[in-house]
Amino acid sequence: MMELALAEARIALEEGVFPVGAVLSAGNRILGRSHKTMISNHLNHAEMNLFHQVFEGDYVFSRADHLTLYTTLEPCIMCFGTMLHLPIARLVFAMEDTYGGCAHMRLENAPPRHVSRSIEIVGGVLRADACKLFAEFLDTTTEEFWLTGGAQHFQATVKAEAGA
Ligand SMILES: [Zn+2]
Repeated sequence: MMELALAEARIALEEGVFPVGAVLSAGNRILGRSHKTMISNHLNHAEMNLFHQVFEGDYVFSRADHLTLYTTLEPCIMCFGTMLHLPIARLVFAMEDTYGGCAHMRLENAPPRHVSRSIEIVGGVLRADACKLFAEFLDTTTEEFWLTGGAQHFQATVKAEAGA
């Protein structure tokens, strides 16, 4: 599944977009796949695009379906929060986001709805492949944000890895 998420990330990269891809599965069944789209729209993260694709209208999924979200980068606060609202039981991501990743956010001070949510989280799956795509993006992007050192923690992680 992570290979498919990486293929989605590759599509984003070819479109000049920060290469994040995501896949949602129920066992071996793929429910949807997507990637980050617009550069300037902060709602169009790979996971959000995927959630809109799979959970449009009155969906029939429940936590008993053991849905797994695969994503090439640790989710941000928006995507992680949305995931908590959806019947997703497991999160698998490739590369940690040292700048804005929220997968390991502590929820014990959160209100009751979220404290009780348990999601299985696995990080580091095909991490090197995801990192290569990010390195390629950072080498080729013309976006001001990245060129002026935006998300410096993340850029440092990717560059340390790529130079190693
Ligand atoms: Zn996000």
